[in-house]
Amino acid sequence: MSIRVGLGYDSHRFSPGRKLILAGVEIPHDRGLAGHSDADALCHAIIDALLGAAGLADIGTHFPDTDPAYKDVRSLQLLEEVLRMVRHRGYGVVNVDVTVIMDMPKLAPYISRMKEKLASVGLQDVNIKAKTNEGMGFVGRGEGIAVMAVVLLNLIQ
Ligand code: MG
Repeated sequence: MSIRVGLGYDSHRFSPGRKLILAGVEIPHDRGLAGHSDADALCHAIIDALLGAAGLADIGTHFPDTDPAYKDVRSLQLLEEVLRMVRHRGYGVVNVDVTVIMDMPKLAPYISRMKEKLASVGLQDVNIKAKTNEGMGFVGRGEGIAVMAVVLLNLIQ
């Protein structure tokens, strides 16, 4: 099969005293996201979608959150590494579509910078959509965010 699809999902809890980083962009907010790495849930969802499409398991298999090597690591760097693994298997990325589910803060002003950051590690053709959860559930209560990503790969060689 010359094309493969992959789905990624991630969620992180808001935490005071942390930075809110999505796609490598620091977004001003009174709280950030808790996590072993920089907690960049958008990068994590894309990583899982890429790994899923390539049949390479998941983010926790490659970058365990028990490994001190990944403490506070920049997730953009992990994404770059995963892109290398995917390309090593002969695949190119056709496109990526992402939905960020977060009631606050508003993401629209940062989306073009986020796409530039992803392009800087070699990930082109990314579409980023921001949705609220209409006040419902953990997102609506401001406890955290969720991100979904879908990726299409094509076999190049
Ligand atoms: Mg994560």
